[in-house]
Amino acid sequence: MRKIVKLQISERTNGYYRYQRKKHINRKKRIIHKMNDYWYYKYEGKLSKGKIHCSCWMCRRKSYDERSRKDKVRLNDMKQQLKDVNFD
Ligand SMILES: [Zn+2]
Repeated sequence: MRKIVKLQISERTNGYYRYQRKKHINRKKRIIHKMNDYWYYKYEGKLSKGKIHCSCWMCRRKSYDERSRKDKVRLNDMKQQLKDVNFD
């Protein structure tokens, strides 16, 4: 297993930064490749920083995008109540 050494900021050498940079790049390259090369990059150095997913409203999924369970139950109750009311 690979040994992960965490250094204090004052102890960080160029080798450490080189290693971390390579690590981040490799991880993102692996993810991109696993998802059929869905992310475009001109130089692989770009992958050392930043995210590799789209966070626009069409791509992302957030809990607040849809109604909560509580609201769904309430809405169903209201619909049911409207059905139950006899208008005659
Ligand atoms: Zn998007």
